[in-house]
Amino acid sequence: MTDAMFDVDVLCVGHASYDVSMLLDHHPEPDEKCIAVSLLACGGGPAANAAVTVARLGGTSAFMGYLGLAGYGRSHFEELMKEGVRTDLIVRGDADIPFSVILAKKSGDRTVVNHRSRTPVLARDAVDFSLCRPRVVLLDGHEPELSLELAIEAGERGIPVVLDAGSVHEGTRRLLSKAGVIAASARFAEDFTGESDPMRALGNLAAISPLCVITLGREGLVYRRGNESGRIPAFPVDVVDTTGAGDAFHGAFSLSIARGEPVRRALLKANAVGALCCTKLGARPGIPHREEVERFLRERRDSIPSSEDSMDDPLTE
Ligand code: ADP
Repeated sequence: MTDAMFDVDVLCVGHASYDVSMLLDHHPEPDEKCIAVSLLACGGGPAANAAVTVARLGGTSAFMGYLGLAGYGRSHFEELMKEGVRTDLIVRGDADIPFSVILAKKSGDRTVVNHRSRTPVLARDAVDFSLCRPRVVLLDGHEPELSLELAIEAGERGIPVVLDAGSVHEGTRRLLSKAGVIAASARFAEDFTGESDPMRALGNLAAISPLCVITLGREGLVYRRGNESGRIPAFPVDVVDTTGAGDAFHGAFSLSIARGEPVRRALLKANAVGALCCTKLGARPGIPHREEVERFLRERRDSIPSSEDSMDDPLTE
């Protein structure tokens, strides 16, 4: 832990795991022995992946959550250090972190098997956040006690809170009203609002937060800010594995908000980052660096429609 004040663009709070991903031609039948086309082992978890994304895009980030002192927790900690993610606010302990085996098929389908280990749930006062001055706080909905405390404190300090609402549970429900930005998965949006049509679901979510986005995987995203809404299709890419695309999207979007970029530009960029993340096996290898995203967007400039509405204004001045 540090005892000096520090600034970061995005403080990412929540879950860190360790993933072993295997790429397969087809998913195994019962009793079948399958040969993996490729294998990849690396850190994972929505908030940790988002923190890595922010760092690769040239921003500063810190991860707040739990990582064990040994085993997979230690490997993951070392990865975050190498990526330049600040680790001062990570709680360490003897228990290891959750472990996932991901079987990915080139079609984008995947099967995830998760072992939760004995990872502790962090108490609301587990981390002192007073020395950290983030421009944006991104919550992935895990660590519900700590996240709620942080969301309240961020609100008092005037720091925008982005909620990655992946699935409906008590933690995400309690955080919703504290979020200035809700970035929901399609599953969350449908389960929470009861609306299968994303635009109608957005209408419901808009009653809670001024800016809402629903990411729709290969369909891209829909957004609503005040009375304006729209749809942005996904960038067509050669998909290898979609693991981490949402996390990369949330990291990129939060960094853009921290930098005061226009909302529409922020969505386009996050859409590109999410798409690029799908082009490699595993969550981390596909997370692009800034130059790669800039080149990707430059090459597709002609296919991106322009707009004159207030989505071209920044969220934070
Ligand atoms: P989550 O895993 O959080 O539900 P999504 O699957 O909705 O996230 O993906 C998040 C974003 O990643 C999408 O909005 C899109 O920008 C990008 N993305 C995901 N899947 C694809 C794909 N098959 N092709 C291109 N972009 C994708």
